[in-house]
Formats: sequence, structure tokens, C-alpha cells
Amino acid sequence: MPADSLETIANLSKRRGFVFPASEIYGGLRSSWDYGPLGAELLRNIRDAWWTTMVRDRDDVVGLDSSIIQSRQVWVASGHEESFTDPLVECTNCNVRSRLDKLEDPEECPSCGKRGTFTEVRDFNLLLKTFLGPVEDDAALTYLRPETAQGIFINFENVRRSSRLRLPFGIAQIGKSFRNEITPGQFVFRTREFEQMEMEFFCRPDEVEHWYQYWLDARMQWYLDLGMHPDRVRMRAHQPEELAHYAAAASDVEYLFPWGWDELEGVANRTDFDLRAHTESSGEDLRYYDQEADERFFPYVIEPAAGVTRSAFAFLIDAYQEEEVRAETRVVLKLHPKLAPIKVAVLPLSKKDDLIEVTQRVAKQLRSHWAIEVDVTQSIGRRYRRQDEIGTPYCVTIDFDTLEDQAVTVRERDTMEQDRLPIQGLVSYLIDKFGDRL
Ligand code: ATP
Repeated sequence: MPADSLETIANLSKRRGFVFPASEIYGGLRSSWDYGPLGAELLRNIRDAWWTTMVRDRDDVVGLDSSIIQSRQVWVASGHEESFTDPLVECTNCNVRSRLDKLEDPEECPSCGKRGTFTEVRDFNLLLKTFLGPVEDDAALTYLRPETAQGIFINFENVRRSSRLRLPFGIAQIGKSFRNEITPGQFVFRTREFEQMEMEFFCRPDEVEHWYQYWLDARMQWYLDLGMHPDRVRMRAHQPEELAHYAAAASDVEYLFPWGWDELEGVANRTDFDLRAHTESSGEDLRYYDQEADERFFPYVIEPAAGVTRSAFAFLIDAYQEEEVRAETRVVLKLHPKLAPIKVAVLPLSKKDDLIEVTQRVAKQLRSHWAIEVDVTQSIGRRYRRQDEIGTPYCVTIDFDTLEDQAVTVRERDTMEQDRLPIQGLVSYLIDKFGDRL
């Protein structure tokens, strides 16, 4: 059973150093979170896994790293300034604001339980405003990007020309986005600052159905390949009334969170909406020129848009297990080795100098291959418990016999099986054990 409550993951995250509340010493800020040493590694591993699959392993997708702050005109043209809104209602009894489209019962306030106390619905714009330069006036106004996608569209011609790309091709980007969410919450699920992994795949308009289906399948497979329980991820097609202002079709990859199915990633057919809008607004012709047919046209776009921080949360929930071991509860994160923050822990049985010396030697060998941790504190039982809880696939124990036989014990996280082997063969043993899972 994966974790059945958000608190279980939030507590483990705080205790072990995955996620801390932002500004905690000042009372916390519900809408932001800070990632600790292990969280930083986990996010990095998620980004790397995505980048490898979406960019490095393909010859039709390239990367980009565009600015968070762009000209305000970008957000005017894209329609965000006008239409990037959520329906907001406020309860006249308790003054708590809610997002109408997320309420189970549109008449009932989720905070105080009163019925019929909502104000008229108002469209609330989610763009986070900022001012460039010393004067805070309308001319200096712009926004922190609410999606990374627009950075890709406005660079379409720069990337196409410099990389000499022909349709179909994609441009991928990972980075922070900001939305002034009405109701942030559910731990890191919905925050005002978050990180996205987005790819815009440009194709001929008559091939868009094929690529839509292709990316739906590919994106689902990515989560399964990283070990997510197949019965806890699903694809759900949007109803026409759910579609964003730019989309002709969309589906969500959904995960079974402790509160029910919810979005992990959106895959949308954005048509030629964005390239057309930026061409009209900027006057730069962003059409694609097909030399063979001697024609110019706006490519269509399929966009898989995922969340780094949101999927970190889902991977943590999914990996969490409690097991009975010798009448005790063992908490273990069965994270895929690619995602595990620490791949191997090195644990000397004592702090005696000669053991520490061997430990350092072993650690040095391993460090050139993997993210490792040396832990010399507490009893070996407690150290195993910590490594299980943070999802470390292998622990290498160095004991007094090691000094005699130059051998160590390797313990595997999921089976808890132990192998004794010479230090000399340790790296190749682990390479073999990880197989192609790294
Ligand atoms: P919702 O309707 O739930 O507000 P959305 O459908 O507008 O979200 P998208 O614009 O499709 O979300 O964003 C793509 C992905 O970016 C989401 O699937 C999610 O993983 C991530 N994401 C979006 N908003 C947030 C947020 N506020 N906090 C964390 N991750 C987010």
C-alpha cells in the first residue's frame, strides 16, 4: 500500500530532509516549500530522467532554457493577461475563498460547511505581477511566467534556424513557473511557485492526431518505467467545457493521490494558436517554410506539460511502504533507483580509526559512480532504518572482519538480502545489480 495520507509524506519529508515549509521560522508560507538535501537530489533525478527521455534519447527534440521574465506583450498575445483565470467565490459567512470549479458541491463552503453563502463568481487572474525597474507603473508591469511554454513559442524561429530542424520536431524546457493560485495546498501539490517540464512538439496540421496519441502513450509509459504502480496512474480525456482557451483536445495523466484521482501532467493539442497569436501580435512571421512543397504554414503543436514538484510528491506517495519485519514496522521508500536521492550508503560498524579508513577508501571508489552517503552515527539498525526511509537501494557495511578479509556486506533495500563480497569487486557487483535501471 502506498502512503494513504498526505501527512505521512509531509512528516517523513520534514524528518528526513526532503521538503521543509518555506519561511518556517516566520510561521511558514502555505504556498511555497523548500527542498532539503534529499529533496534537491530527488528533483534533480526527476528532471534528469525527463530530459534523458524527452531530449537526449531522441533526435527530433532539442532543449531550451528561456527567461522567467519576458515582455508583457508575450502574455497579452498568448491570451494569459485576458483569460488565464479561475472562477473565484468567497463565503460571506467565513470569508474563505474557493475555486468554484474544484468544489465537490458548488453550493457548500468547504471551510465552514454553510450552504448558499457564496458571493457572485468572479474571474480571478492567476498571473503573478512584477515591475521591472525602479518605477512601479503600468509601463513597468510584467509577469512571472505561468508556464514555460511561451518561452518556447517566442523562440520557435531562433531554435528552428540555429538547429536546422525540419518538421516534426520538439523543443523541451524545464523551469520554474508561478501562478497566484486561489487555493494552494495539499502539501506541494498546488503551490504558487513550482517547476514544470514542458515540451512543444511541432508537426504538420494533418499529422496532429497521430502525434497526440503518440505523446499520450509515451508520457504514460514514462511514469510506468519509473516504477509507478500501474493501477494508480491513468489517462483521462478532458470534456469540451474543461479545455483551456488554447486547446482543441487535452488529456490528463492522473495519479491516485490520497484525496482521489488528480492531475499529474496535461497533454494538449494547442493547434497553431500560439505561433499564430505571436505572429499577429509581433509582426514576425513564425510560419514554417516547407521547401519541397514551397509552402508556408503554421505547424500544430502537441504539448506534454508535467510538474517536477508535483511528480516528486506522487513518486514519494507511490514508493512509500510500511512492512512488518520481525514484529516491527519497517518504513521503506521503494523508489526507482534512478530517482533514489542516494544510491549507496556506506556504514562502518564502529568509528574506530582503522574502520573509518577503509570506509573512506570504499566511499571514494563508489563516489565516482553514484551519489553516496557515509553514515557513522547511531546503531546499525537505526542507520538501516534511515536508509530504508529515504529509499537508498544498497547499503554497504564495513565491519571488523573487513580488516582481515577485505570483504564487505551489501544489503539490498527491498529484499533485505545480504551478500558478502571482496571490496575489489564491489563496484562491478553494484553496476551489475543496478543493471539498466540507472
Ligand atoms: P489546474 O487546473 O489543476 O490548476 P492546470 O490544468 O492549469 O492545473 P497545466 O497548466 O496543465 O495545469 O500545468 C501543467 C502541469 O504543471 C500540471 O499537470 C502540474 O503538474 C504542474 N502544475 C500546474 N500548476 C501547478 C501548481 N500550482 N503547483 C504545482 N504544480 C503545478
